[in-house]
Amino acid sequence: MWNKAAETMDRRSLKKLQLERLRETVTKAYGAVPFYNKLFKEHHVSPDDIRTLEDLVKLPMISKIDLRDNYPYGMLAVPRGNCVRIHASSGTTGKPTLVCYTKEDVSNWSEVMARSLFMAGLRRGDAFQVTPGYGLFTGGLGFHYGGERLGAMVVPTGTGNTIRQINLMRDLGTNMIAGIASYALHMAEVAGSMGVDLHKDLQVRRGIFGAEVWSDGLRKKIASLWDMDCYDIYGMSEMYGPGAASECSAHEGIHVWDDHFIIEVIDPETGEVVGPEEEGEIVMTSLTKEAMPMIRFRTRDLSRILDVGKCSCGRTHTKIARIKGRSDDGISVNGVKVFPGQVESVLMRNPDVGLNYQLVVEKSGALDKMTVMVEANGTLADQAARGLSSSIAKEIRPVLGFSPEIRVVPPLSIERSEGKAKRVLDLRKR
Ligand SMILES: [Zn+2]
Repeated sequence: MWNKAAETMDRRSLKKLQLERLRETVTKAYGAVPFYNKLFKEHHVSPDDIRTLEDLVKLPMISKIDLRDNYPYGMLAVPRGNCVRIHASSGTTGKPTLVCYTKEDVSNWSEVMARSLFMAGLRRGDAFQVTPGYGLFTGGLGFHYGGERLGAMVVPTGTGNTIRQINLMRDLGTNMIAGIASYALHMAEVAGSMGVDLHKDLQVRRGIFGAEVWSDGLRKKIASLWDMDCYDIYGMSEMYGPGAASECSAHEGIHVWDDHFIIEVIDPETGEVVGPEEEGEIVMTSLTKEAMPMIRFRTRDLSRILDVGKCSCGRTHTKIARIKGRSDDGISVNGVKVFPGQVESVLMRNPDVGLNYQLVVEKSGALDKMTVMVEANGTLADQAARGLSSSIAKEIRPVLGFSPEIRVVPPLSIERSEGKAKRVLDLRKR
């Protein structure tokens, strides 16, 4: 382990540390950030009300909207001059949400990233290719600093220029890559078109993927295409970036770094905290962030806390299930909530399905109509395509509760992206 003392700390000591850090965080936020001060007063709570970890629920929750409203520096708990870094969240329209970092913040972030990368098998001296974007997005620099902290040789390619990515992997003997799962599929296709055999010509045997929801089925596909062990990593710019939680070699859920964060799962409708194994929205509280402490931040991500004792990997930190989706990326089709991941898990089990799919939703009279576009794994004759579509239809119905139209299309006919894959095309909004 990268930090054995921290990663295997007994639960009692971990909780004691969490309470100390929580009280410190809340006191500082209340004293230094007018936004928190006002919010707490409106809810008739003060830092003195936090005597146990269970008292956390007394505090109000915040969301991305609060960050947007306080753009750019309204959430700062330290003087502007103490900040050494800025990032902004990706994919938002209008004003971005900004996060600031002190030197200590960057160091803590590197620490949780180094732990996560070590847990996924990265070692000193490995060549580690970082394919997420560098810049305001936290992906590139997050993996970069974590990899350097660990002592790996970071190859900072950033996103895009896929042919160069593959050439560098081959020439440098890259051992591990970081990125987005759908980009790993895209790279596999490009490598194929370059005549590069991922098993024989490359030494990439580990991959760590985050920033989008990817199913176990997709994981198996990537693992076999690349001959690679795949790991999930979770995070968000508000909690430093990627690395708030990450998957261990047991491959049964992801560990949240409890000494830096408190995780809660709530019912997104009522806001009530739900029990272990119950699914809901993840709410996170930062325990070590200086520049922008986040108290009960609603992530919109859906998961559940796993009711397991000590993990077989030896770590004691809380485990959650891999992220199922975002509460706002489910699409409503005639009133039924559909998550792309549900469809993906069915598709990727089928060996005749290729590398890409898309859900298209449109109006058909008064009703919604959903079509699942599925790329076949090779060119199929009409009859074979019909057979594939009817076998997918049979498997999808019990998962969704209704029967979407299934359209099997040739390989590479759905538009590719070098960022997050576009899984839903909602034509109703036009
Ligand atoms: Zn574990």
